[in-house]
Amino acid sequence: MHANQLLTPAPLVDNPLRWAETDRPEPGPGQILMEVVACGVCRSNLHMIEGDWVDGGVPAISPIVPGHEVTGRVAALGEGVTEFAVGDPVGVQPLWWTCEECEFCTTGREQLCHQRIITGEHVDGGYGQFMLAHAAHTYAVPEALDLVEAAPLFCPGITAYGAVDKLDVGPGSVVAVFGLGGVGHMAVQMAVLTGAEVVAVGRTQAHLDVALELGAARSVDSTDPDAMAAIAGTADAVLTFAGSDAVTAQALQTLKWGGTLVNGVPIKLDEFHFNTGQTIKGSLLGNRDQMRTVLQLAAEGKIRTVVERFSMEQAEQALERLAAGSLRSRAVLVNEHE
Ligand SMILES: [Zn+2]
Ligand SMILES: [Zn+2]
Repeated sequence: MHANQLLTPAPLVDNPLRWAETDRPEPGPGQILMEVVACGVCRSNLHMIEGDWVDGGVPAISPIVPGHEVTGRVAALGEGVTEFAVGDPVGVQPLWWTCEECEFCTTGREQLCHQRIITGEHVDGGYGQFMLAHAAHTYAVPEALDLVEAAPLFCPGITAYGAVDKLDVGPGSVVAVFGLGGVGHMAVQMAVLTGAEVVAVGRTQAHLDVALELGAARSVDSTDPDAMAAIAGTADAVLTFAGSDAVTAQALQTLKWGGTLVNGVPIKLDEFHFNTGQTIKGSLLGNRDQMRTVLQLAAEGKIRTVVERFSMEQAEQALERLAAGSLRSRAVLVNEHE
């Protein structure tokens, strides 16, 4: 098999990935060998590849195959795996394994498991032709879904669903979404499903246009001070998926007193006033039940992804486009035979 391997993290200009021949892994007990059809390209892949997370111990192995929003078909089953059959369409999200025993795993918050193993960061991920998965964290992909278009459901989809699920909003509420990349586009749709009026806020016209196509009631150009002033204090909830201090400040300005900000990226706050009664909640992915709900929503046609296809060997080109901000939506790497 071939895969995009990262040997040493380095800036993209130094071509840190190599399309290498490697041994096809054998599934151990409880594991599945997946023939990868598609893998979404996440900004967190870029962080790892360029070495931003080396101090935090990521990547945990070398070489490593990045990629954590993966779809494919079951190619082989390890001992004891009975819930899947060879040929089944399946997907894997960033949570590759969790302990199933800790306080988080036993209360439906396994994404917070301190022993969690992350796909493509601690073990090889989906930027290749085959990948190992754990049956307990492998999902059946409904037949109605195209495996390439389904790939981003496994990171942007679950991230957006997990964030919106933390809100108490519905008809009559206003939800503003900041950061209209792969996750933001999914969050717009999840927020629309609650019945809330959704305001998409961003600086890229193409992203704002997609948000309107996906059901946002209004779009606001974040570089227009008058337009931003007009929405100050109007949102019952704000979601932010853009990791810049300027965007965080705009998101807080847009939030009503008593409202809730959910962040799916790290944010920095100079000051946070208690007397506005506002709440900030961090949100990471979602649990397995939520992931299955996301797949169901997509199968019912209630949400959809917007993807730009690249061949699996073009991983670096896709990452360069992501770094340059020139993708309309989610880049997805696709193995040739598809
Ligand atoms: Zn991701
Ligand atoms: Zn655990």
